[in-house]
Amino acid sequence: AKPTGRYLHKDHQLWAPLTLADFEAINRCEKSLPKNFNFAGDVLDQWSQKEKTGERPANPALWWVNGKGDEVKWSFEELGFLSRKAANVLTKPCGLKRGDRVAVILPRIPEWWLINVACMRTGLVFMPGTTQLRAKDILYRLRASKAKCIVASEEVVPAVESIVSECPDLKTKLLVSPCSQNGWLSFQELFQSTSAEHSCVETGSQEPMAIYFTSGTTGSPKMAQHSQSSLGIGYTLCGRYWLDLKSSDIIWNISDTGWIKAAIGSVFSSWLQGACVFVHRMAQFDTDTFLDTLTTYPITTLCSAPTVYRMLVQKDLKRYKFKKLRHCLTGGEPLNPEVLEQWKAQTGLELYEGYGQTEVGIICANQKGQEIKSGSMGKAVLPYDVQIIDENGNILPPGKEGEIALRLKSTRPFCFFSEYVDNPEKTAATVRGDFYVTGDRGVMDSDGYFWFVGRADDVIISSGYRIGPFEVESALIEHPAVAESAVVSSPDPIRGEVVKAFVVLSAPFKSSNPEKLTLALQDHVKKSTAPYSYPRKVEFVPELPKTITGKIKRNVLRDHEWGRT
Ligand code: ATP
Ligand code: MG
Repeated sequence: AKPTGRYLHKDHQLWAPLTLADFEAINRCEKSLPKNFNFAGDVLDQWSQKEKTGERPANPALWWVNGKGDEVKWSFEELGFLSRKAANVLTKPCGLKRGDRVAVILPRIPEWWLINVACMRTGLVFMPGTTQLRAKDILYRLRASKAKCIVASEEVVPAVESIVSECPDLKTKLLVSPCSQNGWLSFQELFQSTSAEHSCVETGSQEPMAIYFTSGTTGSPKMAQHSQSSLGIGYTLCGRYWLDLKSSDIIWNISDTGWIKAAIGSVFSSWLQGACVFVHRMAQFDTDTFLDTLTTYPITTLCSAPTVYRMLVQKDLKRYKFKKLRHCLTGGEPLNPEVLEQWKAQTGLELYEGYGQTEVGIICANQKGQEIKSGSMGKAVLPYDVQIIDENGNILPPGKEGEIALRLKSTRPFCFFSEYVDNPEKTAATVRGDFYVTGDRGVMDSDGYFWFVGRADDVIISSGYRIGPFEVESALIEHPAVAESAVVSSPDPIRGEVVKAFVVLSAPFKSSNPEKLTLALQDHVKKSTAPYSYPRKVEFVPELPKTITGKIKRNVLRDHEWGRT
């Protein structure tokens, strides 16, 4: 296979293929981006070569199980062969051309990885979405993106059919299923009869590669567009130092296919390092299946959202002996220090938190080898220069709370999203002075560690104090009665706004006296954190509103408190 991204080798006047060392150097700003880059050609096909020469252990590239005895294991060579066939399906019968946008709404099945790589090979713009999307969500995505093609599994078909007449740009519907469906091309059928001869398109390194929709925690999801290199090269250091991956590792990253976390943990960071991506089909998260999987398979590396760890520590984890697990990660939401401590006490393993966004990937992380400060998101990840800034774009000193921002000028880091598609106003609104503002508030300490306070909109101002919900939630969860909580502002005639906690009780406390428990929790928070931040109002609820990614939607609770719809 011919690599597309090459440097002109100074001494020999020959084109040399890019190496992992080159990718690292690019992330450290020691080398410039090559003109062309394609993740399939320059990374995956290179690992396939290394498999042949024995420079990579005989570890699959993808290892998929469904808990019902079915299993798929592909080497990089097989992934290459199969994805070339998939590429031919997309360009020939589907009639797609370089630059066309393809919405891919599939569960965790191997075809998701095939279509993803096939899009890279053909220069199509991959747009994943979760199968939990409803008809109106799919309509929003198809119309906003002007997608030419939708690739979906059968459970998504009725929703697509109900809105497809409102999507004039959509030309092709491709079904991934053993069954057939009127009006849909069958991926399986076409795949069987398609050739595996395909040459990878020489994509520009800044050419669009994927559009990821943000989680929509605070409103309609935004379409963050990423380039071949922002995703394909930008996760090199994250894979090596945060995920701590080598080609002999097996990483299980539990993320829905629709979110950038799937790209970070189950495609780019892992395959850049040549590691094996482990996938469990698991339609619904279930702690028993989860723990069984860790005891059955030689998974070395685990990455999951904090909400999963919050559920797991409710179990008696000492009863489980994990087969090969050695490195655990979390991100996407703040991790309460209490959960980290419990995980550590019960499993003997640290929990390495990372902080990131769909727009810019991983910004801060507790990298392997660095001391972990419980409750901190770790230090800035290269090439980002992360600072805390004020409302005028000035850098604040360590210890001062402000907005978490990334330096954009003089050169915009290559691993940034290129834009919110068709939304120049929203794109421009992310820039303040020399910085990109994340919309999150935090503090940096004098050692360069970042501490999350809350989303800028979630911060509560009560009697002149600024209160971050995360601090209060972390205090609450230390109490044995609290399984989970969400802290928001609530109107108050005297103070303007006060702190209100919505609390989900842990099993043993479900039938406790609510008045007594409220007092006990308030008392606990007053002792554990700044007394003024204790929740003056407490409401016990069976569950919290969450995004499909499992993030707490504080804005829904807050709007309800303030009588907004
Ligand atoms: P939207 O932008 O559509 O409202 P979203 O911001 O939740 O949704 P994502 O890009 O998936 O969409 O999430 C990024 C956000 O998640 C961050 O801006 C931050 O608020 C939160 N986040 C991610 N990791 C962490 C972490 N380790 N600690 C605290 N918050 C985190
Ligand atoms: Mg966001």
